[in-house]
Amino acid sequence: MNSLIKLPFEHRFTRQLPADPKTDNICRTVLGASYSYVSPTKTSQPQLVSYAQEVAELIGLNISECRSQLFTQVMTGNEILKGMKPYACCYGGHQFGNWAGQLGDGRAINLGEVMNAEGHHYTLQLKGAGMTPYSRGSDGLAVLRSSVREYLCSEAMHHLGVPTTRALSLALTGDHVTRDMFYDGRSKAEKGAVVCRVAPSFTRFGSFQIYTAQGNHDLLKRFVDVTIKNDFPHLGTPSKTTYMEWFREVCQKTAEMIVHWQRVGFVHGVMNTDNMSILGLTIDYGPYGWLDNYDPNWTPNITDAAESRYRFGHQPQIAYWNLTQLANALYPLINNEAAFQEALVVYVTTFNQGWQKMMQNKLGLKHENEPLIEELLRILSLVETDMTIFYRQLATLKFEGLNLEKTSDDELLAPLIMAYYQLDCLTPAYKQRMGAWLRDYGKCLQSSEVNDEQRKLAMNAVNPKYVFRNYLAQLAIDKADAGDFSMVDELLELFRHPYDEQKDKEHYAEKRPDWARTRAGCSKLSCSS
Ligand code: AMP
Ligand code: MG
Repeated sequence: MNSLIKLPFEHRFTRQLPADPKTDNICRTVLGASYSYVSPTKTSQPQLVSYAQEVAELIGLNISECRSQLFTQVMTGNEILKGMKPYACCYGGHQFGNWAGQLGDGRAINLGEVMNAEGHHYTLQLKGAGMTPYSRGSDGLAVLRSSVREYLCSEAMHHLGVPTTRALSLALTGDHVTRDMFYDGRSKAEKGAVVCRVAPSFTRFGSFQIYTAQGNHDLLKRFVDVTIKNDFPHLGTPSKTTYMEWFREVCQKTAEMIVHWQRVGFVHGVMNTDNMSILGLTIDYGPYGWLDNYDPNWTPNITDAAESRYRFGHQPQIAYWNLTQLANALYPLINNEAAFQEALVVYVTTFNQGWQKMMQNKLGLKHENEPLIEELLRILSLVETDMTIFYRQLATLKFEGLNLEKTSDDELLAPLIMAYYQLDCLTPAYKQRMGAWLRDYGKCLQSSEVNDEQRKLAMNAVNPKYVFRNYLAQLAIDKADAGDFSMVDELLELFRHPYDEQKDKEHYAEKRPDWARTRAGCSKLSCSS
């Protein structure tokens, strides 16, 4: 493990790709370059809120260093270490279905790539560290509330087994940032913060789209070659064949990520093509949310309220749409529509098969049973049913030796009652339908001789007990805003073991309290961050 000043920095990305010749942070269109060298803005009084020791270990950093003054200075952009050469990337993207032109790292500044002892590369990126040429008239800063959300959710997702970018640290800047949280003219000064994000690469679908949009096919090819060399080295020397293999792999990885999102009830909220990682990592935590009650039509993002384009149940189709945009961007390199169509099928099959298997595992079934799964999902959205609690409680049901025909609907339903938000909605018709489903489920388990205890263990390994519920985020934010960071660290620790029953932590598994139903930040979020 290294000290901070001994972290070995490499510059693969910047060495292999063209830099913007200008180095100021004035907003502008950048042509013919993949990034701009830019320095983070100095902050007035940086203060560390929290750090994730496993991320420090991942990059080969001695964890005792995380408590040093230097760490806080570096992770807020106040101090640039020897070997770091900060830069912001140029990319474009489709936002809410429309081509938005140049976007880029408007408030993210990459410090450099660290290579760990195993030879793996990780880019360190400060989010909220000030203006860049890509800030598009905004301030390049981030507020504490959105930074707490990004920091904790990245780590929670990782421990849930969902591919994601990581978060090394969260720090206050000591400066204020003005935000109009709900775009209603009520601007407020909020505490500024910086998160240090860590990922093998932050390259997005939009990183390729920008060159095609600019008609710069030479740079498109160069960028693809560098991506394959750095991030997909197992594919070998880039060629037309490798390009298609690579695109197929991107389709596959994206499908796998979406299956995970659907498994844990995560709604990204802004699945624009600039927020889609080429590595199939969950990236850019903004107005995301977690399903409390299972509702495929739910989106946390108020900007998307009218169309609900990015609603939970639509995420799989949106990922496909985004991959189609990436295919369009890559088309000039290969000029073979059929090959792209074929590759896109990889997404569809990986997703469909992965989703079926995932649902089968959530239910602890030995065999595929599509009708059973479909009927359950229809029932779950009939009345407000907490998704996370439902699956954990379902695992406690005992079917071995049970006479299903002689067990009443009420008896079957009893262990699930705590998953419901409004008991008066459980009408006789509802109970009968759910009862019938539970009987079918029980029969299915009995006929394949599933052992109750083993099923519970298997189900609990894929159905988390603790997820980063929207109201938990808000509670942690309220405390952090008042200067008490204890809940940030407590949640970080809780989410290290999301599938385990944790003594004294039962309250963090409770369903959304009534006060959180309509409270800002708990059910509705904006892109203002
Ligand atoms: P997002 O919706 O967070 O993915 O952001 C879309 C684009 O807006 C990206 O290019 C961001 O870098 C940029 N952006 C978002 N917030 C800010 C900000 N406060 N200052 C500068 N750029 C921003
Ligand atoms: Mg983004």
